[in-house]
Amino acid sequence: MSSSFVSGFSAGLKTLTLAFVLRLCLALLLPPAAAAQEPSIPGFPEIPIDATEDQVRQRVALVRAGEKLTPRAWPNGARVAVCLSFDVDNELLWRRTPLPVPLSQGEYGATTGLPRILELLDRQSVPASFYIPAMSAALDPQMIQEILRGKRHEIGVHGWMHENLPMVADAAKEEKLLTQSIEYLTKATGKRPVGFRAPSWAFSESTLKQIQKAGFLYDSSFMAMDEPYELLSHGQDTRMIELPINWIADDYPYYEPQAAGSLPDPELVFDVYKGEFDVAYQERTTFILTMHPHITGHRSRIAGLEKLIVYMKSKPGVWFATLDQVAEYVKAQQEQVKR
Ligand SMILES: [Zn+2]
Repeated sequence: MSSSFVSGFSAGLKTLTLAFVLRLCLALLLPPAAAAQEPSIPGFPEIPIDATEDQVRQRVALVRAGEKLTPRAWPNGARVAVCLSFDVDNELLWRRTPLPVPLSQGEYGATTGLPRILELLDRQSVPASFYIPAMSAALDPQMIQEILRGKRHEIGVHGWMHENLPMVADAAKEEKLLTQSIEYLTKATGKRPVGFRAPSWAFSESTLKQIQKAGFLYDSSFMAMDEPYELLSHGQDTRMIELPINWIADDYPYYEPQAAGSLPDPELVFDVYKGEFDVAYQERTTFILTMHPHITGHRSRIAGLEKLIVYMKSKPGVWFATLDQVAEYVKAQQEQVKR
């Protein structure tokens, strides 16, 4: 191999990496689903630049971070809790523009992505949490059966139609959709779901109150820390355990063409996820990864995910768990501390 080829290749790789990093920054700055950052969301007017400190405090008080809930030790002396999670959105991501070809891109999640993911989880004997909008499950009812067959996975709520909750802009309608979603999954799985993940990670003014009232054990939609914490609303503890997510540990910004940050190189994505896991391992907290069957379920990406799982399994003291197992454990530890 000539040295000019090698240096040309390495310069090309650097350019590619730089382009990826730039696009990634853009994607993380402008997350596609973070509609709440746009000024036109009903009930969420802009905070004026001449607002007083009190006014700003009030405007950020709806949901804020309370105490950290990482326990002193994880079960069996594990150093870190690892949660693989999948949002089974499929076709519903194209609900507003339901053209046949984009819909098929989502349908891939049901036909190919999910079965391939379940096969990988079986092969590696690790559990995962699946958040399924009810209508997504209704379109392909075999998905829930396939997930339950593994006997180690969790199914949680992810909306009725993958509705953007602040855009529903009607508390009664939002509550009706939440109730329907819980009832649908309870009937389909034989177990009432205990975990909630808001579609597009978007909360309305009512969402937190409604999920508390519905008795959820935990939420997984916020990003104020990268370890379990409690959610406060207007300064009050809500007793809701937050198992936080982040755009960095999500497949969407890296792989989706419309996400502005896409460079379909599973090796680079592996490096980012590995970096997140490595520090979680050092800090003895949690590593929660969010993926989608129609995105990560593709061939080259599944290979990248398997490489990550194998890497994490090679470290001593890694607890692979569903989010509900982590929330149950955190809750039990909290109760012991308070006793
Ligand atoms: Zn989703």
